[in-house]
Amino acid sequence: MPYQADQHEKEILEYWDKNKIFEKSVNDRPEDKPYVFYDGPPFATGLPHYGHIVAGLMKDVVPRYWTMQGYRVERVWGWDCHGLPVENIIESDLKLKSKKDIEDLGIDKFNEACRVAVLKYTEEWRRTVKRMGRWVDMEHAYKTMDIEYMESVWWVFKELWNKGLIYEGYKAMHICPRCVTPLSNFEVTQGYKDVKDISVIAKFKLKNAEKLGVDGDVFVLAWTTTPWTLPGNVALAIGDDIEYKIVEFEGAKFVVAKERLQEVFEGKEYSVLQKVDKKNLIGLEYEPLFPYFANTENAFRVVSADFVTTGEGTGVVHIAPAFGDDDYEVGKRENIGWVHHVTMEGKFVPEVVDFAEKEVKPKEDTMATDVEIIKWLAHNNKLFSKKKIEHSYPHCWRCDTPLLNYATSSWFVKVTDLKADLITNNKKIEWVPEHMKEGRFGKWLEGARDWAISRNRFWGTPLPVWKSEDGDVLCIGSVEELEELSGVKVKDLHKHIIDDIEFEKDGKKYKRIEEVLDCWFESGSMPYAQMHYPFENKAKFEAGFPSEFIAEGQDQTRGWFYTLHVLATALTIGDAPSIPKDKSCAAFNNVIVNGIVLAEDGKKMSKRLKNYPDPMEVLEKYGADAMRYYLATSAVMHAENLNFSQDGVREVYNKVVNTLWNVFTFYQMFSHEETRNKKQETNNVLDKWIMAKLQVLVAEVTENMNNYKLAEASRPIMEFVLELSQWYVRRSRGRFKGDDEQDKQFALSTLREVLLILSKVMAPFTPFIAEKIYMGVNSNQSSVNSNSVHLEMWPEVSKDLVDEEIIEQMILTRKVVEESLFLRKDAKIKVRQPLQKLTIDKKLSDGLREIIAEEVNVKEVVEGKKLELDTELTKELKNEGLMREIVRAVNQIRKEKGLTRESKVSVEYSTDDVELKAVFEEFNEEIKKQVLADSLKEGVGETEVEINQKKLKLKVNPAPLFL
Ligand SMILES: [Zn+2]
Repeated sequence: MPYQADQHEKEILEYWDKNKIFEKSVNDRPEDKPYVFYDGPPFATGLPHYGHIVAGLMKDVVPRYWTMQGYRVERVWGWDCHGLPVENIIESDLKLKSKKDIEDLGIDKFNEACRVAVLKYTEEWRRTVKRMGRWVDMEHAYKTMDIEYMESVWWVFKELWNKGLIYEGYKAMHICPRCVTPLSNFEVTQGYKDVKDISVIAKFKLKNAEKLGVDGDVFVLAWTTTPWTLPGNVALAIGDDIEYKIVEFEGAKFVVAKERLQEVFEGKEYSVLQKVDKKNLIGLEYEPLFPYFANTENAFRVVSADFVTTGEGTGVVHIAPAFGDDDYEVGKRENIGWVHHVTMEGKFVPEVVDFAEKEVKPKEDTMATDVEIIKWLAHNNKLFSKKKIEHSYPHCWRCDTPLLNYATSSWFVKVTDLKADLITNNKKIEWVPEHMKEGRFGKWLEGARDWAISRNRFWGTPLPVWKSEDGDVLCIGSVEELEELSGVKVKDLHKHIIDDIEFEKDGKKYKRIEEVLDCWFESGSMPYAQMHYPFENKAKFEAGFPSEFIAEGQDQTRGWFYTLHVLATALTIGDAPSIPKDKSCAAFNNVIVNGIVLAEDGKKMSKRLKNYPDPMEVLEKYGADAMRYYLATSAVMHAENLNFSQDGVREVYNKVVNTLWNVFTFYQMFSHEETRNKKQETNNVLDKWIMAKLQVLVAEVTENMNNYKLAEASRPIMEFVLELSQWYVRRSRGRFKGDDEQDKQFALSTLREVLLILSKVMAPFTPFIAEKIYMGVNSNQSSVNSNSVHLEMWPEVSKDLVDEEIIEQMILTRKVVEESLFLRKDAKIKVRQPLQKLTIDKKLSDGLREIIAEEVNVKEVVEGKKLELDTELTKELKNEGLMREIVRAVNQIRKEKGLTRESKVSVEYSTDDVELKAVFEEFNEEIKKQVLADSLKEGVGETEVEINQKKLKLKVNPAPLFL
């Protein structure tokens, strides 16, 4: 009967629950030997998927291993509660279309709705986590919305503040107009998509063009892929090193970079009038493209700038200072009056009368407004050309709205100041796979920019900054501090509660600023916040910081890994570090980065396309052990993509789980015969060989686990299980069934020892079947070490059992067998037909030659110069072969009749063949023994069988019971 994975695993889950095995596995280990592991909190607003299963697996295998190494590995779950994902859900649930709708509803109502919704799928999570066999304390889970957690986040913020690492700045950055908030640069990198847009070249008519030495109207041509920014144009920038020409085309004159002429005029005919003297061009004024901001100070001039290139466009850049870093700097340098023609909601301001209130990038039809702008330009004779383009454009990672590059005020962490320390601390981290260190993560650190941490939103940890009317700022780092300043008892730190708390200090009235923190700042603070450090658990936290291990997907190199790293480095640098440390450090010593699980066809798993099996269904069919082992041995452990295949899980179920189960049930059939009173040293070569192989396995798994190489650690297990089943047990069958009592005991005690140690080695990867086998093997043993394999210590290599020679010799033996069987095949002689002699070309011990004799079915194996099989069939050998065929035929009938291994039978036969008759007579006793028959005699046949073209009828019945 195949292994009933679902049923057995559910029984074991119950057993663990009932006997509190997980709790024991933590509490039994000494408190002064901690192994600290940080769990990245997921959002409970979405359902768990394969990506979470992979991460959960790594977070289970490693702690189980270190527990068995004697460490106390506490594992507490966390929930990420704040931020846009939750807010977006409430907005759609309550049909709130804009930020203003939220304010009209009331921030208190909105936030309370978020609080309720945030743990929506916790039950589904609990079920999946449990079914996968992951051990983690979900009862005492921390939540990022708990006041203790938020208070520690304030502490982190204030420590950075005290170190001068926090500042408020006005900068161009990407905002989401729907969420009405700026996003950090790593959030922006998550949302690039190829989109269709329209680019335009607009005509800017120069005033006083005669200064360039030509008559009549001259237009400067400037190109943009964001036509909606044109109403905010206040300058045109030309490059210092670029040559410009005045060109006549269809009766008008234009200024264009020389290198761009072909492209701009698209191969049409034009004539170059002259080179532009840039001295004369710079400073020239032009007529505003749109009339709305015509009175802007120092505006509408040609200026020079070093960022202008001739890679695309006209070689002239249209400047709108509110929309882009470079633009902003030019505006500042040239003292141009401030123009912000679009609101943070992404709509034109009322001054832009022709388009007032229109969204600049409507989500439903992102080109609609650009088309309107282009129509206006064409109507007013200011359009030179337009073109459809496809380019990569950033979108909001939460709501998919196209982002706007927009100058606004935000709070920042000065990451650029920390860069050198971030790079130094990265060197102390062991990455799996190794290339992440200098590659994906290292490169990201080298390009690190200041981190925009404020969000103009509602559901998050508020920035603990209070401002006076005249702009003085106070940063508050604890609940107590706020209570002392305000005299108000504070029980909740959410925005709708604390925004009402105002206070006076030194005669000035202070009010909190509006923003909340980026939720990535909160998840980066989890090492401290989950323990409410430094307000509680001070000694315990400090003893376990930094953590030994974390694991997540590769996208976190720009997310959680990064924010953990930035905050830990910031908190540990300087002469007076916030956490007592001799040297600045990272937040973690070892990290495993997993890849992405794709559908079998290599595409992204898509709920809509249903191109992947439901994880729970796969678990029901093949069990969590098979799923775990399949994932643990896959490339996904090396940050590579995995095309998930249910067939792959099935293969693991067959080759590892079910094969091991068959070995175990075989052991159980005989285990009651085991005496176990004294351990004698076996002299059987198969026993010595499997014990030596076991030592190799233990050594290999241990070394790779110590290096966090989960795939390399788990892969050798399958090979071992197959060798155990297909060689050790198969070759030892006769020993278990045989009459040599001592050899039987050797075989039984060896197999028990192998199963026991194997169950320990497999425990971190396949915890269910490991438990099943451990308990089964121990069940009739009086001195049980413990009642779970997971409470055991990790096995050590027994040096005296390491025997490389025997492993080598067995490889030779198996090679001889394989080649000899080929010789039989060539000679067309079935393996069941015994042969007299095999000559082998290897020097092997008696025991090994015996194995070869049995496998190849020859009477003797002798050593010689070359491999040779004596294929001569004597009368005796022929008869013996026939005898074996008869035994096989009878056993086949036994099987078909559903008789058990133990039940005795009586056999009758009838045949006309003289040779067969003779065999029955000659081997009567031997056949009876091998088919467990009471009687074997000539009589009436029943089932017709054919043996070497000889006809025979057999009648096999259960033997009558004589009472
Ligand atoms: Zn958004």
